[in-house]
Amino acid sequence: MGIVLHWFRRDLRLADNTALAAAARDADHVVPVFVLDPRILAADDIGAPRVSFLLEALRSLAADLDKTGAPLVFLRGDPEKEIPRLARSLGADAVHANVDYSPYSRARDARVREALGKERVAWREFHDQLLVAPELCVKDDGLPYTVFTPFARRWRTFEKRPPLPRPRLARLDPSLVTRAGGGPVPASSAELGLPLEAEIEPGSEKQARRRLDAFVEAKLLRYKTERDFPGLESTSHLSPHLKFGTISPRAIYHRVGEAIGADLAGLDPSKPGKPLSQAQGERLREAGSFLNEIIWREFYQAVLFHFPHVVHRPFQERFVGFRWPKADPAHVAAWRDGLTGFPIVDAAMRQLARTGWMHNRLRMVTAMFLTKTMLVDWRIGERIFMQRLVDGDVASNNGGWQWSSSTGTDAAPYFRIFNPLSQSLKFDPDGAFIRAWVPELRELPSPLVHSPDDEPLRRAACGYPAPVVDYAAGRARALELLAPLAKG
Ligand SMILES: Cc1cc2nc3c(=O)[nH]c(=O)nc-3n(C[C@H](O)[C@H](O)[C@H](O)COP(=O)(O)OP(=O)(O)OC[C@H]3O[C@@H](n4cnc5c(N)ncnc54)[C@H](O)[C@@H]3O)c2cc1C
Repeated sequence: MGIVLHWFRRDLRLADNTALAAAARDADHVVPVFVLDPRILAADDIGAPRVSFLLEALRSLAADLDKTGAPLVFLRGDPEKEIPRLARSLGADAVHANVDYSPYSRARDARVREALGKERVAWREFHDQLLVAPELCVKDDGLPYTVFTPFARRWRTFEKRPPLPRPRLARLDPSLVTRAGGGPVPASSAELGLPLEAEIEPGSEKQARRRLDAFVEAKLLRYKTERDFPGLESTSHLSPHLKFGTISPRAIYHRVGEAIGADLAGLDPSKPGKPLSQAQGERLREAGSFLNEIIWREFYQAVLFHFPHVVHRPFQERFVGFRWPKADPAHVAAWRDGLTGFPIVDAAMRQLARTGWMHNRLRMVTAMFLTKTMLVDWRIGERIFMQRLVDGDVASNNGGWQWSSSTGTDAAPYFRIFNPLSQSLKFDPDGAFIRAWVPELRELPSPLVHSPDDEPLRRAACGYPAPVVDYAAGRARALELLAPLAKG
């Protein structure tokens, strides 16, 4: 093939990029392109942390591509117009892209593909974003899984190919680069009307690799034991990198396998394999718990792929007609701003506002607090998370919110409500995490730091708010209104 456009979207890296590697193999010239879609920027769930991370990842990608002599063409506009226009003006034979499974992207890609067809330009898409494509990881009868555990069991039986090296891209003729046009990647999200207030993870392929190496070397083999304690910083922080593809899931999977010195197929219960030594078994248990989280990501992408309606509607049909009580804006604002008077909830929401990231356990605690103590519709919290998270991802965020509000795929045979106080005592036992994010409470000893309203005068002297809702009353209402639906 002569010229192939590689359209970057959620795959902002050169290493192990399936569609890019195929383009480099099959074409004489690869023209890398990214299109900033104004509809995504105008969506009500967009936020500065995600856009900042994206722009930085793009600048870093552009610098890496400059070194190869095939510079990134950065365009702004509707992809269904820009991609065919560019293909036409360069005389491209094909456009390559890695599949993005979100409903918006699938609809957009269908339009781009149709427009390209009219120009007689081929559209070639590749599975890349997940270790196992969602169409493949289905039940024997071809139906999708709706429960995590059997999905994970099946998922483990698939081979996971090793990562591909960085491709060699041919240097582009300067006249072709000029004809492609495009402009510079914006220097900051503020240029796009989204000023950044949080301090976020730097977005780049190099930083992703650094994160992975540091995690594997120092934390992987303690992951199962420590991952639930927000104060220990024991998780990988790879989520924004997986969201924007500055690292591939295969790079993570195989790096973990190397580190524990065992074939990860050993995690596949259907393959007997060699018996493991006690030390290997221990390593596999710790690392296996991390891989389980990687599988959760794949599960929620598969749920979104097979049930795209979850973007707006509850996954559980039983909840479709349910009318959530009218949300009190003061409650939602207190939750969003970390001023509820419940220290663990406030610490988590302040961590989110300041860093664009929140620990997984606290995402569950805060989501349950909003939906099952304040009785606020999960879609309101889901949107606020998307606006504030650097890793905001429609599949994982929607999955997490629906799981937490019991409208989703949680298979527990009981109605789950996390009590913020017991969660706080269990997972932040010495209160260090609370003190780090809620300075008003810094001088309070444990256990008072977890429930400062036990001494209202002392709490008020710290300048910390009184609880804005009554936890016991909220819980009772949740049990009355939601629990019967949740359990059918
Ligand atoms: C209400 C709620 C909202 C969430 N919103 C998002 C979101 O928008 N984007 C997002 O990436 N994750 C989301 N999660 C999942 C999870 O909280 C984050 O992936 C995790 O905290 C990221 O930190 P980490 O990279 O250090 O995770 P690690 O513990 O190091 O896990 C490794 C990777 O596994 C994946 N992962 C881990 N836990 C989950 C999970 N429960 N569901 C799906 N994938 C998981 C992530 O890609 C993560 O980077 C949400 C969870 C809840 C309960």
